[in-house]
Amino acid sequence: MAQDVIVVGGGISGSTLAFHAARAGRKVLLLEKEGRVGGCLHSVRAPEGFWFELGAHTCYSSYGALLEVVEALGLRSGLQRRAKPRMRFLEGGALVPGQNLGALLRLLDLGELLRSLPHALGARPDGQTVYSHYSRMVGRGNYGRVVGPVLSAVPSQSADAFPAEMLFKKRPRRKDVPRSFTLPGGLQGMAEAAAGAAGVTVRTGAAARALSRDAGGFEVELADGSRERAARVALAVPPRAAAELLRGVLPEAASLVSRVREAEVDSLGFAVPAARAAHLPPATFLIPLEDRFHSVVTRDPVPDPRWRGFTFHFKPGLSSGDRLRRAAEVLGLSPADLEAPTERHTVLPSPVLGHRELVAEVDRMLAGTPLAVTGNWFGGLAIEDCALRSRAEWARVEAGK
Ligand SMILES: Cc1cc2nc3c(=O)[nH]c(=O)nc-3n(C[C@H](O)[C@H](O)[C@H](O)COP(=O)(O)OP(=O)(O)OC[C@H]3O[C@@H](n4cnc5c(N)ncnc54)[C@H](O)[C@@H]3O)c2cc1C
Repeated sequence: MAQDVIVVGGGISGSTLAFHAARAGRKVLLLEKEGRVGGCLHSVRAPEGFWFELGAHTCYSSYGALLEVVEALGLRSGLQRRAKPRMRFLEGGALVPGQNLGALLRLLDLGELLRSLPHALGARPDGQTVYSHYSRMVGRGNYGRVVGPVLSAVPSQSADAFPAEMLFKKRPRRKDVPRSFTLPGGLQGMAEAAAGAAGVTVRTGAAARALSRDAGGFEVELADGSRERAARVALAVPPRAAAELLRGVLPEAASLVSRVREAEVDSLGFAVPAARAAHLPPATFLIPLEDRFHSVVTRDPVPDPRWRGFTFHFKPGLSSGDRLRRAAEVLGLSPADLEAPTERHTVLPSPVLGHRELVAEVDRMLAGTPLAVTGNWFGGLAIEDCALRSRAEWARVEAGK
């Protein structure tokens, strides 16, 4: 066989797994259906060397498993510090004065907040949905109007039914790394560097269609009809795609995985000449209390003298033209001011209560097989959750456990 390991999916989960396998001396073939690696790490590098993110934008000093890869790849000294976050709100399309906690308090009904205080003290997220946990803490009215939209801006989908303990996690921070960082050129560079490690061969435009196994190992069939074989395979694709591929090798696991819900987000990013956007105060996130989008993420935490970048994460159902018009309208610009407008359609997992148990059952089915399954639908959606899962999955299959 030409390779020891085939990794299907070139997002951060697949590329970090490929990196770990190659570091262990294995020959790795990484198959990615799009024309670039990165998945949700999607940096648009235009115009004039400026870049903006269509997907993930921030890594933190608490991302230890990711930092292990960053350091092994020699990227540590090039980390680009991001400025402190400035969260601002949009109400009825207009900017609410102030930022962060001050702006949030201005929007909340303080009477309701005070009445909820006794319930907030000692409230634990375990076994609760985001809605039940946080509406108990701030009151249902405050949740519906303000806190719900803020929490939905984080995963770019309604977070109401999420298991509350999955949304925010405490992880130890490293003091020697910027608290919030990216890479010069954007986060896509993280996946590109991991997939570019010695020992990894990348094939883009290569969608896996089916997976089978015989005494000689695994066979991956690609959409173009070609086939690749290896003794070990790692699936690093969204849940529905993983279920499809698992069907040929572990049908019971496939039917469990097909129960993981998915959400869709339509992102539109663009650059604006800084002079044309001078009326917009610096911000990291703009969160609408009620609109057709979950959030606007800006490039302001990594300022550029000539350009500013904005990415709107829209709820599904709008046309491209409607998204463009709404984005320009919200920012007080003309559609002609938006340079390098680029769209991205993303499928994200949408976990509900019982997700942890479902994933534990999938893990029991994978135990003892040379098949790794990773992705943002195991421990959580954060890049660090992906890096942790991929490191652990590679260690498991390498050890034959
Ligand atoms: C808008 C947005 C903002 C975010 N912001 C942050 C943030 O700031 N910080 C943070 O920590 N996290 C953030 N996240 C979450 C994080 O970016 C993702 O959860 C993570 O990058 C997912 O990585 P992944 O490799 O598991 O999946 P993906 O990135 O979805 O990668 C899966 C890959 O598999 C490929 N694929 C699918 N099917 C096939 C097939 N059949 N054959 C071959 N390839 C296939 C896809 O093309 C894709 O490249 C954000 C996510 C989004 C959408």
